[in-house]
Amino acid sequence: MVYATKQSALQSQGSVISSSLAALEVLTPESVDQVMELLDVSPVTRMLVTDQAGRILYDTDQDDSAVGRYGLLAGVSSALDGYAQFTCAYSHARGAFVSRSATPVVSGGNIVGAVYLYDYDTEQGDIIAGLRDNLLNMSLLFGLAGLVIIVVLSSTLTGRIKRLSSAMDVVRGGDYSHRIPVEGRDELSELSEEFNVLTGRLESTEELRRRFVSDASHELRTPLAAIRLLSDSITQSDDMDTATMREFALDIGSEADRLQRITEKLMTLTKLDAGVTGREREPVDMKQVAERTLHLLAPLAETQNVTLVTELGEGCVVLASADDLYQIIFNLAENGIKYNVPGGSVTLSLKAAGNKALLTVADTGIGIPAEDRENVFDRFYRVDKARSRASGGSGLGLAIVHDAVVANGGEIWVAPRAGRGTVFSVAFPLWEKKEGAS
Ligand code: ADP
Repeated sequence: MVYATKQSALQSQGSVISSSLAALEVLTPESVDQVMELLDVSPVTRMLVTDQAGRILYDTDQDDSAVGRYGLLAGVSSALDGYAQFTCAYSHARGAFVSRSATPVVSGGNIVGAVYLYDYDTEQGDIIAGLRDNLLNMSLLFGLAGLVIIVVLSSTLTGRIKRLSSAMDVVRGGDYSHRIPVEGRDELSELSEEFNVLTGRLESTEELRRRFVSDASHELRTPLAAIRLLSDSITQSDDMDTATMREFALDIGSEADRLQRITEKLMTLTKLDAGVTGREREPVDMKQVAERTLHLLAPLAETQNVTLVTELGEGCVVLASADDLYQIIFNLAENGIKYNVPGGSVTLSLKAAGNKALLTVADTGIGIPAEDRENVFDRFYRVDKARSRASGGSGLGLAIVHDAVVANGGEIWVAPRAGRGTVFSVAFPLWEKKEGAS
């Protein structure tokens, strides 16, 4: 801004003087003096007027007048070549603006001289120096304040990050109940919240795992204890008759069967957990699987005096593993028979509704109390322990059904049957044959 003001002031002053001097045909010290006296020019530090040879004709510096000497200045020589020149610079050392302007004096198309203006401005220089000092002080102040803020912020952040990392250490050590107190609404709080959610999940998974292991060991221990007891009775008795021994051996056999069933079911669940049932999903007609399964269950239904009723619709083709579908239908229908009453019935119906295949297994049995309904899909959960055990149950059947349904993209729910009994419903998305697919 100062530079631009200086340039316009000095150049316009130079051109006023040069155009006033242009009226003179020949520039002499006297004629220039006369013109300059008439002109009301604002004072600059020094003003020189030269003729076309560069000899100084007029000088404002009375004490050290250069009149008569040649003004060997770069600006003057370029002005005498016809080019006006302006330079301005701020000298830090002197704290002043030094501006120079040279303007040619043109008369009748000829360059007859040059006007040289020199301005040494300490006032503006002082302002600039003051401004510079202020800026420096302000920068220092802001820099210092910034530094303090950074130190405070970073120490708070580091503290919070440290808390997060020590919480991770605690959780890594096995304490899944540990939570980080969430404060504020920034990214670190979000991270802490996320960490808490994750730890919560870990805690419930760990709890499930513990319960599963303890339930599984308990289930395995019971038949093992029975086997042990029976075999001890045989070995410790000296006079056991053959019939009793045979009976005990048969009991040992049935307990071994139970053990085998439990371990097989545990294997199935573990595979479902890992997402490997060992079978590929393919388009399967549910009606065929249902018919095959019911055929296998007919003897059990007969011994329990339960009637099997089927209402199997066509067109229920779903993308699933046939073995998983078999497990689902078998377990549901078997439960319907096991938890029934003599003379009761199990109705298995299948129909396509919208874009879903809907399978329902309804029985007229003992029913499931409302408070147990949401737990029946849990592993080892039994409503009536004695009855389940007596019928060879392990409490794993419905857990397998649930996991197999989910693994094949379906849904399962349970409801009481109107009147008496239970209805289990399973829905799978219908398989849509793609154009051109085989
Ligand atoms: P289980 O091997 O004991 O039959 P499930 O997982 O198949 O185990 O079933 C869990 C429990 O749910 C059973 O012990 C039983 O008490 C109850 N249950 C399952 N299906 C039925 C049903 N159709 N009617 C009444 N109770 C049932």
